[in-house]
Amino acid sequence: MTRLVVIGGGAAGMSAASAARRVAPGLDVVVCEAGGFAAYGMCGIPYFLGGTVRRAESLLAYPPEEFRDRRGIDLRLFTRVTGIDPATRRVRVGRQDLGYDALIVASGADPVRPPVPGLGHDRVFTVRSLDEAIRLRRLLDGGAVRRAIVVGAGYIGLETAEALVCTGADVEVIEALPRVLGTVDEPVADLVAAELTRHVRLRLGARLEAVLSRDGGLTAVVDGTALDADLLIVATGIRPATGLLAQAGARCLPDGSVLVDGCMRTSLPGIFAVGDCVALPHLVLGGPAWVPLGPAANKTGRVAGTVAAGGTASFAGIVGTAVVKVFGLEVARTGLGLAEATTAGLAAVATDVVSRSRAKYYPGGSPLHVRLVHEPGGRLLGAQLAGSEGAAKRIDVLATALHAGFTIDDLTALDLSYAPPFAPVYDPVLLAAGHAARSAISTAGGSS
Ligand SMILES: Cc1cc2nc3c(=O)[nH]c(=O)nc-3n(C[C@H](O)[C@H](O)[C@H](O)COP(=O)(O)OP(=O)(O)OC[C@H]3O[C@@H](n4cnc5c(N)ncnc54)[C@H](O)[C@@H]3O)c2cc1C
Repeated sequence: MTRLVVIGGGAAGMSAASAARRVAPGLDVVVCEAGGFAAYGMCGIPYFLGGTVRRAESLLAYPPEEFRDRRGIDLRLFTRVTGIDPATRRVRVGRQDLGYDALIVASGADPVRPPVPGLGHDRVFTVRSLDEAIRLRRLLDGGAVRRAIVVGAGYIGLETAEALVCTGADVEVIEALPRVLGTVDEPVADLVAAELTRHVRLRLGARLEAVLSRDGGLTAVVDGTALDADLLIVATGIRPATGLLAQAGARCLPDGSVLVDGCMRTSLPGIFAVGDCVALPHLVLGGPAWVPLGPAANKTGRVAGTVAAGGTASFAGIVGTAVVKVFGLEVARTGLGLAEATTAGLAAVATDVVSRSRAKYYPGGSPLHVRLVHEPGGRLLGAQLAGSEGAAKRIDVLATALHAGFTIDDLTALDLSYAPPFAPVYDPVLLAAGHAARSAISTAGGSS
């Protein structure tokens, strides 16, 4: 093999290129990146917008010269690939073709823009690239944004709403669904909504109908009401950016994510796909699922790069673990929510327990909500936590339990750490597991 071409210089693409270079020092590695930045922490964008991270460059894992001069990777910025021809092993770049022996597609995901008139307004932004974030930050730094509307109450919308509040803006969040944060169940989402309304105005079940130009700003029409604002953020979800692969004939799920094997090979010879493009083996569901998150993007990139360069690696799978900070609340989830588990045909119940993050007598503790989703008296299927502290630390215990295929009884037996400043003597995870085990005995299921 002589040339590896990587499409996309994000977390997955640059991990792939670096891994390939390590395995095969003589390999010609070319990365084509459509934007002006590569290898940056997209997850840090909200903190850059809000001013916690002061300089855009701080988000770069490495500057482009590190890849070009030290790692010998031919990183081409502002270079969009517009076609893949698997038969001749060529990709189309501008007016030229670039041949490859192996191709790794790491083109990420695209923001979904609802079909609303006026979204082309220059004060309407999505939050998906550093190039766009820099333009937005310039606007914020110029003091032009006193009132902002965020459309969509998923985790990107909520992180962005918090960032805008940090800049001093008056923020309104609009969500078409009757609840926030669709990735957690209702009891946890209700806690998030309560925290949110301490800092922003929240309109649930409300639809953006149009964006109109106004002198120096815009007017958003929401359910027939005109709302004036200086900025509108569209955070209504993402979809896999897999158009090139689909056109080339790769097997995809109906949501557009590409099917891959454990080594990240697509159904097309010599073509791998990684990161937000792909469906990954979900260890609880027992089948492929699209859960686009940072850690899997890095790991799948590394696997594909290693294998494409002639090495050995494989990806074990995901359980869908995520954490988000919403103002003063840590919100974490892993595995399946109750509705997801039921839709998957699993006999699932949920156990909710609210305990404390520290020993009762130790100052500074706060309530911690733990929801376990499980088979009655059987397998753990998922968990969600929310509280001012301690949710992020504990979700990883539950993610590990899912990887190990734990039952509720296994969970009750865990030897977890204890000291008054960090936990009660019965950790909230153990308390919830104990409740789940007992509710199975006393009620043979049901929510508690
Ligand atoms: C605001 C925000 C916050 C986030 N926070 C978190 C978090 O806290 N935790 C977490 O786990 N995940 C988080 N994520 C998700 C995480 O950032 C992604 O899962 C991860 O970046 C995916 O990496 P990727 O390399 O697959 O895709 P991307 O990082 O999107 O990279 C894809 C790259 O491909 C380029 N590209 C696309 N098409 C072409 C083409 N045809 N030719 C050339 N180049 C092309 C794009 O320009 C892009 O740079 C967040 C995402 C966002 C947007």
